[in-house]
Amino acid sequence: METATPDDPNLLDKVINLAKRRGFIFPSAEIYGGFRSTYDYGPLGVNMLRNVKQAWWTAMVQRRSDIVGIDAAILGPPAVWAASGHLETFTDPLVDCLQCKERWREDKIDGVCPNCGSTKFTEARAFNLMFKTQAGPVEGEGATAYLRPETAQGMFTNFNNVLAATRKKPPFGIAQIGKSFRNEITPQNFVFRTREFEQMEMEYFVPPADAPTWHQYWIKERYDWYIGLGLPSAKLRLYEHAREDLSHYSKGTTDVEFEFPWGFDELEGVANRGDYDLTQHSNASGVKLEFFDQTTNEHYTPYVIEPAAGATRAMMAFLLAAYCEDEIEGEVRTVLRLDWRLAPYQVAVLPLSKKPELEGVSQKVLGELQPYFMCDYDVTQSIGRRYRRQDEVGTPFCVTVDFDSLNDHSVTVRDRDTTSQTRVKIDDLLGELRTRTGQH
Ligand code: ATP
Repeated sequence: METATPDDPNLLDKVINLAKRRGFIFPSAEIYGGFRSTYDYGPLGVNMLRNVKQAWWTAMVQRRSDIVGIDAAILGPPAVWAASGHLETFTDPLVDCLQCKERWREDKIDGVCPNCGSTKFTEARAFNLMFKTQAGPVEGEGATAYLRPETAQGMFTNFNNVLAATRKKPPFGIAQIGKSFRNEITPQNFVFRTREFEQMEMEYFVPPADAPTWHQYWIKERYDWYIGLGLPSAKLRLYEHAREDLSHYSKGTTDVEFEFPWGFDELEGVANRGDYDLTQHSNASGVKLEFFDQTTNEHYTPYVIEPAAGATRAMMAFLLAAYCEDEIEGEVRTVLRLDWRLAPYQVAVLPLSKKPELEGVSQKVLGELQPYFMCDYDVTQSIGRRYRRQDEVGTPFCVTVDFDSLNDHSVTVRDRDTTSQTRVKIDDLLGELRTRTGQH
């Protein structure tokens, strides 16, 4: 079986096209001409995005006894962002091209305007990336609120609440998945950089002396998470930030990078934030955010190791890495080789014809699988066309119900990657699919 060249120069366009056509990702407000760089997740995209987030939650919360989750508010008062340093320093250097007047982020353009080629710009100004809004009907200072530009601060401001509620001790973590907002100067590359996006972040609180070891531990864990879900190691690398490029809070950051069509770029940052955040919030709020170690009878401020990933950006990487064109019996097909845990549908139930007897059995099979798998059901077009449609959206298994099924109580299970077909008793089908997905 041939695999399409992974370095297809049109890969990005093909994936964007497929994403729109098959209902993964639509441009927002398209009937009004769109709203630059915002996207809506369609019927398949919402499944896949939820799967990405679930895979993260399973690895980071469910399968660990040292990490708990929260879901904090998106709107926050200025005090939080003053203490975190975001009001002061969460800025990008903004320049205007003197020739065409386009605005750019200075550190992303190498001194040449991507629009007109000019090399003459205004002096760079610090542009704050936070979205500011008004909470409540009163205009004015007291009612100012910000949309969070990262989920992390909710973990710091709730540090004491979580400690009291869970009795956790360092090393322990608080995890959160949710929307963040940044008024990016140049949002671009599909959902890679958007103004509204989803993050998956975890703050891991450790005794200060142990921070370097935990930092290395989390860099490896997070790299392995992407590998485990199917990103090829040849397309992943670790990039350690130079000291002078570190964010205001960081004592050291290593990014997990993926080779996007434009080159290696950040998927996730794993930072050693030291005691910066807890100290800042303790000082600003007057509430001590510390841990009391009963064995030494001492209070201390834990250090924080933070793996910060983007859910929407990760989904894009999984789509790009999964996209393949191969040839089956002389016919080119498009196939998304997605890990079954990420695929929008794990199973498609396909009655060979619309005859009521077949549909009856098919509906029964569907009902038995639906509690365990996200299933599609498709009765339109020829069976070959239906297989291609499922391949194209990454469905690992097609279950075909044909006329023999009425007598032998069996169905055909077709595998997306090998296209092999196996006859399986309906009674054994659920067990077969669970075995094939490594669930027992
Ligand atoms: P950059 O320097 O590229 O603007 P960053 O280093 O500031 O990004 P972080 O603050 O480390 O990004 O955010 C953690 C993760 O959140 C990123 O690795 C990325 O996956 C995701 N992320 C950040 N900004 C965006 C965005 N505008 N659109 C989509 N995902 C984003």
